[in-house]
Amino acid sequence: MKYSELFCPTLREVPSEAEVVSHQLLLRAGFIRKTTAGVYTYMPLAQRVLRKIMNIIREEMDRAGAQELLMPIIQPRELWEQSGRWAVYGEEMFRLKDRHNRDFALGPTHEELITSLVNADVHSYRDLPLMLYQIQNKYRDEIRPRFGLMRGREFIMKDLYSFDADYEGLDVSYNKMYEAYKRVFDRLNLKYRVVEADSGAIGGSESHEFVVLADTGESEIVFCDNCDYAANVEKASCLAPKEEDTSPLLDLEKIATPGQKTIEEVARFLGLPASRHVKTLLYKADGEIIAVVIRGDRELNETKLKNFLHCTHLAMAEENEVRKICAAGFGSLGPVGLPCKVYADLEVARMRNFVCGANEDGFHLINVNMGRDFVPEAVADLRNAVKGDKCPVCGKELEVQRGIEVGHIFKLGTKYSEAMGATFLDQDGKEKPFIMGCYGIGVSRTMAAAVEQNHDEDGIIWPVPIAPYQVIIVPVNIKDAELRVVAEEIYKTLLAAGIEVILDDRDERAGVKFKDADLIGIPVRITIGSKSLKENKVEIKKRWEKDAELVAVSEVLAKVK
Ligand code: ATP
Ligand code: MG
Ligand code: MG
Ligand code: MG
Repeated sequence: MKYSELFCPTLREVPSEAEVVSHQLLLRAGFIRKTTAGVYTYMPLAQRVLRKIMNIIREEMDRAGAQELLMPIIQPRELWEQSGRWAVYGEEMFRLKDRHNRDFALGPTHEELITSLVNADVHSYRDLPLMLYQIQNKYRDEIRPRFGLMRGREFIMKDLYSFDADYEGLDVSYNKMYEAYKRVFDRLNLKYRVVEADSGAIGGSESHEFVVLADTGESEIVFCDNCDYAANVEKASCLAPKEEDTSPLLDLEKIATPGQKTIEEVARFLGLPASRHVKTLLYKADGEIIAVVIRGDRELNETKLKNFLHCTHLAMAEENEVRKICAAGFGSLGPVGLPCKVYADLEVARMRNFVCGANEDGFHLINVNMGRDFVPEAVADLRNAVKGDKCPVCGKELEVQRGIEVGHIFKLGTKYSEAMGATFLDQDGKEKPFIMGCYGIGVSRTMAAAVEQNHDEDGIIWPVPIAPYQVIIVPVNIKDAELRVVAEEIYKTLLAAGIEVILDDRDERAGVKFKDADLIGIPVRITIGSKSLKENKVEIKKRWEKDAELVAVSEVLAKVK
């Protein structure tokens, strides 16, 4: 590529709207341009980086036995009704109507679509396991789209879904992905940690996040220097007990106060059959209600419910808020998509000293374990992480660190297959729901994370495996025929050897060219000046090193290969 032909408009000034380094540098170096909040064009250099990231991901997904497909972005409401998520996904979902007034969503994720797809064509255990993935734009109307590609409203994700006949199979698929993800982030040359993530406590479920370390990251993680425990803050806030922990369940009978509504009463008020539809009530110790969890997609009159329960702030809760309540209370909701609606009094939920009610008559706590599912401090302290807390594995003090969530793997179990009636015929001749897992990588966010981690005051320093070009050749004066001829010779030699190379053929001062080369972050710069050329040598400088090395023209190829 000749620099004079490259579409890479660089900026000298730091754009004022950009708060984090990756956003600033990607704009300045001409990699991205904003169309509207959270929506960007990937310029030619960015597209090259993205392609490399995607290819590494593809190779590792394929190596793990997965197959790539491509699903639609436009998804009909009916699919999301089947899982119950049309109503609960909330404002983060981009919704649209067609000319017949039918509802659609722009896919924020694809569990529904793939579950229905697989259900239609996979009928027998013999066709399992199955791992399918795609790399595609996702749409989420984030409340605060910011930091450039970090939190976009249109962004590129690799999403993979596994289907197994049993939980042992799910473990195998999950481990394959866990290993594949490690290989991906190793190959991308990024410093990252794998942390335990909040799985929403569906019995036995597991979830891990892959977090690229960076002080500007929006995720907070805790880790132990002594052993290899690491978790995100939500997860660490409800630290798992040791195996032998048999702390008693809460005795709700003692805590229940006069005037407190029972599940039965709430259900009756709502006209719903009790335990099946009103799943959980969450109370504060003084009997004030915090949250009501209702199964399925039901529109409720919030004001009426609020009055009935004598609470002040009850309203549909955001998914994030729900996660926090879950972390503090009960084990029946998953963080990705809830086939339940949660009406919560968030003001109250943020306070300490509340207790959890259960989904049967008489307030029995089902599958709620003090210390595991329920940590009173968890909600109040969630944002302050847990620095200095004891490591649940070895007891040493935990450290806190910031990072960027670039990948997330998750055991879904039968969450979607059950809700959507997606079954196969098992070996024993019985219909069973698919056992599923889902696995995402933020491709465009990973590009930003790479910049966040690899830059200096002059610009980006691309990790070699994802650099848009490997080499840039800079003749210090293009008008000097001798320099130009050598530059073109080297350019042709490198091209012929399959090296991705830019020749800076612009009629610009050397300083300008060096600044641009540093800004766009090309790993190797070959400088051709008349002084060294007298000895038949050129300068080779690595982007991350201070000093250049003099190399004979004839040895350039061997040196940069
Ligand atoms: P976050 O916690 O940052 O909102 P998430 O947990 O909602 O992310 P997932 O549903 O786990 O995201 O999606 C899988 C991956 O997609 C994430 O790990 C992340 O890398 C990427 N991703 C999610 N939201 C965005 C976004 N708004 N912009 C860019 N990448 C995103
Ligand atoms: Mg999110
Ligand atoms: Mg997250
Ligand atoms: Mg996530």
